[in-house]
Amino acid sequence: MYRRASARLLRSYGRRLSSSTPRPVIVVHGGAWAIPEPLTDASVAGCEAAAQAGWEVLQRGGSALDAVEAATRVLEDDPAFDAGNGAVLNEVGEVELDAIVMDGVDLSCGAVAAIGPVANPVSVARMVMERTPHCLLVGEGATRFAEQQGVPLLRSVDLVTAEAQQQWREMAAFPTSVKQLFNTHPLAASDTVGAVALDASGNLASATSTGGITFKRVGRVGDSPIVGAGCYADNDLGAVSCTGHGESIMRLTLARHALWLMHGRSPGEACAEALRQMHARVGGCGGTISIAPSGEVGVAFSTPRMAWACVRGDGDARSGIDRSASLAEAEEEGGEGESIVEVVRLDRA
Ligand code: ASP
Repeated sequence: MYRRASARLLRSYGRRLSSSTPRPVIVVHGGAWAIPEPLTDASVAGCEAAAQAGWEVLQRGGSALDAVEAATRVLEDDPAFDAGNGAVLNEVGEVELDAIVMDGVDLSCGAVAAIGPVANPVSVARMVMERTPHCLLVGEGATRFAEQQGVPLLRSVDLVTAEAQQQWREMAAFPTSVKQLFNTHPLAASDTVGAVALDASGNLASATSTGGITFKRVGRVGDSPIVGAGCYADNDLGAVSCTGHGESIMRLTLARHALWLMHGRSPGEACAEALRQMHARVGGCGGTISIAPSGEVGVAFSTPRMAWACVRGDGDARSGIDRSASLAEAEEEGGEGESIVEVVRLDRA
Protein backbone atom coordinates (compact mmCIF):
# COMPACT_ATOMS: atom_id res chain seq x y z
CA MET A 1 0.00 0.00 0.00
CA TYR A 2 2.84 2.40 0.85
CA ARG A 3 4.78 4.05 -1.91
CA ARG A 4 8.23 4.38 -0.46
CA ALA A 5 10.60 7.28 -0.87
CA SER A 6 8.39 8.82 -3.48
CA ALA A 7 8.81 12.49 -4.01
CA ARG A 8 5.66 12.91 -6.05
CA LEU A 9 3.50 14.46 -3.33
CA LEU A 10 1.59 16.90 -3.10
CA ARG A 11 1.50 20.54 -3.03
CA SER A 12 -1.54 20.25 -5.26
CA TYR A 13 -3.19 18.17 -2.58
CA GLY A 14 -2.63 20.96 -0.09
CA ARG A 15 -4.22 23.42 -2.46
CA ARG A 16 -7.27 21.19 -2.86
CA LEU A 17 -7.62 20.94 0.87
CA SER A 18 -7.55 24.65 1.41
CA SER A 19 -10.67 25.23 -0.64
CA SER A 20 -12.83 22.45 0.83
CA THR A 21 -13.59 20.53 4.00
CA PRO A 22 -10.31 19.47 5.59
CA ARG A 23 -9.31 15.95 4.69
CA PRO A 24 -7.37 14.14 7.37
CA VAL A 25 -3.62 13.76 7.12
CA ILE A 26 -1.11 12.10 9.40
CA VAL A 27 2.68 12.17 9.17
CA VAL A 28 5.10 10.39 11.51
CA HIS A 29 8.88 10.24 11.87
CA GLY A 30 11.25 7.78 13.46
CA GLY A 31 14.29 9.98 13.91
CA ALA A 32 16.83 11.81 11.74
CA TRP A 33 20.33 10.37 11.72
CA ALA A 34 22.59 8.06 9.70
CA ILE A 35 20.25 5.11 10.13
CA PRO A 36 22.41 2.07 9.39
CA GLU A 37 21.41 -0.19 6.51
CA PRO A 38 20.29 -3.13 8.69
CA LEU A 39 17.84 -0.83 10.51
CA THR A 40 16.28 0.84 7.50
CA ASP A 41 13.52 -1.66 6.78
CA ALA A 42 12.45 -1.84 10.42
CA SER A 43 12.50 1.95 10.70
CA VAL A 44 10.30 2.51 7.64
CA ALA A 45 7.98 -0.39 8.51
CA GLY A 46 7.60 0.99 12.03
CA CYS A 47 6.70 4.42 10.68
CA GLU A 48 4.23 2.93 8.23
CA ALA A 49 2.49 0.97 11.00
CA ALA A 50 2.31 4.06 13.19
CA ALA A 51 0.93 6.26 10.42
CA GLN A 52 -1.64 3.60 9.68
CA ALA A 53 -2.71 3.47 13.34
CA GLY A 54 -3.10 7.24 13.42
CA TRP A 55 -4.91 7.17 10.10
CA GLU A 56 -7.44 4.65 11.38
CA VAL A 57 -8.25 7.01 14.25
CA LEU A 58 -8.79 9.86 11.80
CA GLN A 59 -10.87 7.65 9.52
CA ARG A 60 -13.21 6.87 12.40
CA GLY A 61 -13.71 10.59 12.91
CA GLY A 62 -11.22 10.78 15.78
CA SER A 63 -9.39 13.97 16.65
CA ALA A 64 -5.92 14.93 15.52
CA LEU A 65 -4.88 14.69 19.16
CA ASP A 66 -6.13 11.10 19.43
CA ALA A 67 -4.38 10.28 16.16
CA VAL A 68 -0.94 11.61 17.14
CA GLU A 69 -1.16 9.85 20.50
CA ALA A 70 -2.15 6.54 18.85
CA ALA A 71 0.61 6.82 16.25
CA THR A 72 3.25 7.76 18.80
CA ARG A 73 2.28 4.86 21.07
CA VAL A 74 2.92 2.45 18.18
CA LEU A 75 6.37 4.00 17.68
CA GLU A 76 7.08 3.84 21.43
CA ASP A 77 6.15 0.16 21.48
CA ASP A 78 8.49 -0.58 18.57
CA PRO A 79 12.04 -1.43 19.73
CA ALA A 80 13.46 -0.06 16.48
CA PHE A 81 13.10 3.45 17.92
CA ASP A 82 14.59 5.39 20.82
CA ALA A 83 11.32 5.98 22.66
CA GLY A 84 9.48 3.80 25.16
CA ASN A 85 10.58 0.25 24.37
CA GLY A 86 14.04 0.63 22.80
CA ALA A 87 14.97 3.83 24.65
CA VAL A 88 18.66 4.57 25.10
CA LEU A 89 20.40 4.59 28.48
CA ASN A 90 21.78 7.55 30.41
CA GLU A 91 25.28 7.66 31.93
CA VAL A 92 24.30 5.41 34.83
CA GLY A 93 22.54 2.89 32.61
CA GLU A 94 18.99 4.00 33.38
CA VAL A 95 16.14 5.02 31.10
CA GLU A 96 14.82 8.59 31.37
CA LEU A 97 12.10 9.49 28.90
CA ASP A 98 10.82 12.78 27.44
CA ALA A 99 7.49 13.28 25.65
CA ILE A 100 5.01 15.98 24.69
CA VAL A 101 1.61 16.41 23.06
CA MET A 102 0.11 19.65 21.82
CA ASP A 103 -3.42 20.45 20.68
CA GLY A 104 -3.66 23.13 18.00
CA VAL A 105 -7.26 23.94 18.95
CA ASP A 106 -6.40 25.98 22.04
CA LEU A 107 -2.61 25.55 22.36
CA SER A 108 -3.05 23.10 25.23
CA CYS A 109 0.08 21.09 25.81
CA GLY A 110 1.35 18.52 28.25
CA ALA A 111 4.83 17.10 28.64
CA VAL A 112 7.01 14.91 30.81
CA ALA A 113 10.78 15.06 31.00
CA ALA A 114 13.30 12.66 32.53
CA ILE A 115 10.39 10.48 33.63
CA GLY A 116 11.23 6.98 34.85
CA PRO A 117 10.47 3.94 32.72
CA VAL A 118 6.86 3.82 31.53
CA ALA A 119 5.73 2.10 28.35
CA ASN A 120 4.04 5.09 26.74
CA PRO A 121 5.27 8.45 28.00
CA VAL A 122 3.24 10.26 25.32
CA SER A 123 0.07 9.17 27.11
CA VAL A 124 1.42 10.44 30.43
CA ALA A 125 2.15 13.75 28.67
CA ARG A 126 -1.48 13.84 27.58
CA MET A 127 -2.56 13.19 31.17
CA VAL A 128 -0.46 16.15 32.29
CA MET A 129 -2.29 18.24 29.71
CA GLU A 130 -5.78 17.05 30.59
CA ARG A 131 -5.58 16.31 34.31
CA THR A 132 -3.28 18.98 35.73
CA PRO A 133 -3.07 22.77 35.47
CA HIS A 134 0.55 22.37 34.31
CA CYS A 135 2.35 21.99 30.99
CA LEU A 136 5.47 20.05 32.04
CA LEU A 137 6.33 17.65 34.86
CA VAL A 138 9.89 16.40 35.31
CA GLY A 139 11.86 13.63 36.97
CA GLU A 140 10.53 12.13 40.16
CA GLY A 141 7.46 14.36 40.08
CA ALA A 142 6.56 13.12 36.62
CA THR A 143 7.11 9.50 37.59
CA ARG A 144 5.01 9.91 40.74
CA PHE A 145 2.24 11.55 38.72
CA ALA A 146 2.21 8.64 36.27
CA GLU A 147 1.92 6.19 39.15
CA GLN A 148 -0.93 8.21 40.69
CA GLN A 149 -2.74 8.02 37.35
CA GLY A 150 -2.49 4.23 37.41
CA VAL A 151 0.26 3.96 34.81
CA PRO A 152 2.40 0.87 35.52
CA LEU A 153 5.98 1.78 36.43
CA LEU A 154 8.53 -0.49 34.78
CA ARG A 155 12.20 -1.14 35.38
CA SER A 156 14.74 0.26 32.92
CA VAL A 157 15.57 -3.30 31.96
CA ASP A 158 12.00 -3.81 30.74
CA LEU A 159 12.49 -1.22 27.99
CA VAL A 160 16.12 -1.80 27.11
CA THR A 161 17.15 -3.56 23.94
CA ALA A 162 20.45 -5.30 23.20
CA GLU A 163 21.26 -2.48 20.76
CA ALA A 164 20.74 0.19 23.43
CA GLN A 165 23.00 -1.74 25.81
CA GLN A 166 25.65 -2.07 23.13
CA GLN A 167 25.54 1.67 22.38
CA TRP A 168 25.86 2.38 26.09
CA ARG A 169 28.88 0.08 26.42
CA GLU A 170 30.57 1.81 23.48
CA MET A 171 29.93 5.24 24.95
CA ALA A 172 31.09 4.11 28.38
CA ALA A 173 34.36 2.94 26.86
CA PHE A 174 34.87 6.12 24.84
CA PRO A 175 32.83 8.81 26.58
CA THR A 176 32.07 11.76 24.31
CA SER A 177 30.25 14.87 25.30
CA VAL A 178 26.84 15.66 23.90
CA LYS A 179 28.34 18.61 22.06
CA GLN A 180 31.16 16.64 20.47
CA LEU A 181 28.86 13.83 19.49
CA PHE A 182 25.96 15.77 18.05
CA ASN A 183 26.80 19.34 17.32
CA THR A 184 27.97 18.98 13.75
CA HIS A 185 27.86 15.26 13.53
CA PRO A 186 24.98 13.96 11.44
CA LEU A 187 26.01 10.38 12.12
CA ALA A 188 24.99 10.36 15.76
CA ALA A 189 22.08 8.02 16.54
CA SER A 190 18.86 9.86 17.22
CA ASP A 191 15.79 7.78 16.60
CA THR A 192 13.30 9.91 18.46
CA VAL A 193 9.73 9.59 17.22
CA GLY A 194 6.94 12.03 16.48
CA ALA A 195 3.63 12.59 14.73
CA VAL A 196 1.59 15.47 13.34
CA ALA A 197 -2.02 15.24 12.22
CA LEU A 198 -4.91 17.22 10.77
CA ASP A 199 -8.41 15.89 11.43
CA ALA A 200 -11.68 16.24 9.54
CA SER A 201 -12.66 19.24 11.67
CA GLY A 202 -9.54 21.10 10.62
CA ASN A 203 -7.80 20.68 13.96
CA LEU A 204 -4.05 20.09 14.18
CA ALA A 205 -2.02 18.28 16.83
CA SER A 206 1.53 17.09 17.29
CA ALA A 207 3.50 14.77 19.55
CA THR A 208 7.15 13.88 20.13
CA SER A 209 8.68 11.15 22.31
CA THR A 210 12.26 10.09 23.01
CA GLY A 211 14.72 8.36 25.26
CA GLY A 212 17.11 11.20 24.45
CA ILE A 213 20.72 10.44 23.68
CA THR A 214 22.94 7.61 24.86
CA PHE A 215 25.08 8.29 27.93
CA LYS A 216 23.37 11.62 28.57
CA ARG A 217 23.80 13.10 32.03
CA VAL A 218 21.22 12.08 34.59
CA GLY A 219 18.53 14.77 34.36
CA ARG A 220 19.53 15.93 30.87
CA VAL A 221 16.47 17.03 28.92
CA GLY A 222 16.62 17.65 25.19
CA ASP A 223 14.32 19.57 22.91
CA SER A 224 11.67 16.90 22.53
CA PRO A 225 9.38 17.77 25.49
CA ILE A 226 9.97 21.51 25.23
CA VAL A 227 7.05 23.33 23.66
CA GLY A 228 8.15 25.29 20.60
CA ALA A 229 11.41 23.35 20.34
CA GLY A 230 10.64 19.66 19.72
CA CYS A 231 6.95 20.13 19.00
CA TYR A 232 4.30 22.74 18.27
CA ALA A 233 0.72 22.80 17.01
CA ASP A 234 -1.56 25.74 16.33
CA ASN A 235 -4.64 25.48 14.12
CA ASP A 236 -3.81 28.89 12.68
CA LEU A 237 -0.16 28.14 11.89
CA GLY A 238 0.45 24.41 11.44
CA ALA A 239 1.93 21.48 13.32
CA VAL A 240 5.57 20.38 13.59
CA SER A 241 7.49 17.58 15.32
CA CYS A 242 11.30 17.64 15.40
CA THR A 243 14.21 15.26 15.86
CA GLY A 244 17.95 15.75 15.96
CA HIS A 245 20.48 17.50 18.16
CA GLY A 246 18.40 18.61 21.12
CA GLU A 247 20.76 21.29 22.39
CA SER A 248 20.69 22.98 18.96
CA ILE A 249 16.94 22.55 18.43
CA MET A 250 16.20 24.15 21.80
CA ARG A 251 18.36 27.15 21.07
CA LEU A 252 16.56 27.87 17.81
CA THR A 253 13.11 26.77 19.09
CA LEU A 254 13.01 24.85 15.84
CA ALA A 255 9.33 23.84 15.73
CA ARG A 256 8.03 27.36 16.35
CA HIS A 257 10.66 28.86 14.10
CA ALA A 258 9.67 26.55 11.23
CA LEU A 259 6.04 27.64 11.62
CA TRP A 260 7.06 31.28 11.55
CA LEU A 261 8.95 30.61 8.30
CA MET A 262 5.84 28.98 6.78
CA HIS A 263 4.40 32.36 5.78
CA GLY A 264 4.89 32.33 2.03
CA ARG A 265 6.62 28.95 2.01
CA SER A 266 5.42 25.36 1.78
CA PRO A 267 5.77 23.37 5.04
CA GLY A 268 8.70 21.42 3.62
CA GLU A 269 10.50 24.54 2.43
CA ALA A 270 9.90 26.29 5.75
CA CYS A 271 11.24 23.35 7.73
CA ALA A 272 14.24 23.01 5.41
CA GLU A 273 15.02 26.69 5.83
CA ALA A 274 14.69 26.39 9.61
CA LEU A 275 17.11 23.45 9.58
CA ARG A 276 19.54 25.41 7.41
CA GLN A 277 19.37 28.36 9.78
CA MET A 278 19.87 26.08 12.77
CA HIS A 279 22.98 24.61 11.21
CA ALA A 280 24.32 28.03 10.28
CA ARG A 281 23.72 29.53 13.72
CA VAL A 282 24.43 26.69 16.13
CA GLY A 283 25.72 23.82 14.02
CA GLY A 284 23.24 21.03 14.69
CA CYS A 285 21.52 18.63 12.32
CA GLY A 286 18.05 17.15 12.45
CA GLY A 287 14.71 16.62 10.79
CA THR A 288 11.10 17.76 10.95
CA ILE A 289 7.65 16.70 9.82
CA SER A 290 4.96 19.31 9.36
CA ILE A 291 1.40 19.98 8.24
CA ALA A 292 0.03 23.38 7.28
CA PRO A 293 -3.57 24.30 8.19
CA SER A 294 -4.41 23.62 4.52
CA GLY A 295 -3.30 20.01 4.92
CA GLU A 296 -0.13 20.48 2.94
CA VAL A 297 2.59 18.17 4.23
CA GLY A 298 6.33 18.70 4.60
CA VAL A 299 9.19 16.34 5.46
CA ALA A 300 12.68 17.83 5.79
CA PHE A 301 16.00 16.59 7.13
CA SER A 302 19.64 17.60 7.14
CA THR A 303 20.92 14.19 8.25
CA PRO A 304 21.76 11.32 5.89
CA ARG A 305 18.43 9.66 6.61
CA MET A 306 15.11 10.17 8.36
CA ALA A 307 12.42 7.50 8.52
CA TRP A 308 8.94 8.90 7.86
CA ALA A 309 5.49 7.88 6.68
CA CYS A 310 2.35 9.76 5.70
CA VAL A 311 -1.28 8.84 5.01
CA ARG A 312 -3.54 11.50 3.57
CA GLY A 313 -7.15 12.24 2.69
CA ASP A 314 -7.94 9.52 0.23
CA GLY A 315 -5.83 6.87 1.96
CA ASP A 316 -2.78 7.51 -0.19
CA ALA A 317 0.22 6.34 1.81
CA ARG A 318 3.83 7.43 1.35
CA SER A 319 6.98 6.63 3.24
CA GLY A 320 10.70 7.06 2.91
CA ILE A 321 14.05 7.19 4.58
CA ASP A 322 16.79 7.98 2.13
CA ARG A 323 18.36 11.32 1.48
CA SER A 324 19.89 10.37 -1.85
CA ALA A 325 16.68 8.80 -3.17
CA SER A 326 14.66 11.81 -2.09
CA LEU A 327 17.11 14.18 -3.67
CA ALA A 328 17.24 12.26 -6.94
CA GLU A 329 13.47 12.16 -7.17
CA ALA A 330 13.14 15.82 -6.33
CA GLU A 331 15.57 16.64 -9.11
CA GLU A 332 13.64 14.40 -11.50
CA GLU A 333 10.59 16.50 -10.75
CA GLY A 334 12.42 19.32 -12.51
CA GLY A 335 12.32 21.64 -9.55
CA GLU A 336 8.57 22.10 -9.85
CA GLY A 337 8.15 21.83 -6.14
CA GLU A 338 5.89 18.79 -6.22
CA SER A 339 7.76 16.92 -3.51
CA ILE A 340 6.89 16.91 0.17
CA VAL A 341 10.45 15.85 0.94
CA GLU A 342 13.01 18.61 1.32
CA VAL A 343 16.55 17.38 1.69
CA VAL A 344 18.64 20.07 3.33
CA ARG A 345 21.98 20.60 1.64
CA LEU A 346 24.05 21.99 4.44
CA ASP A 347 27.02 22.65 2.20
CA ARG A 348 24.96 25.49 0.74
CA ALA A 349 24.07 26.90 4.10
N1 ASP B 1 16.20 15.45 19.95
C1 ASP B 1 16.47 14.33 20.80
C2 ASP B 1 17.24 14.77 22.01
O1 ASP B 1 18.15 15.57 21.86
C3 ASP B 1 17.23 13.26 20.11
C4 ASP B 1 16.57 12.78 18.85
O2 ASP B 1 15.93 13.52 18.14
O3 ASP B 1 16.70 11.60 18.55
O4 ASP B 1 16.97 14.29 23.08
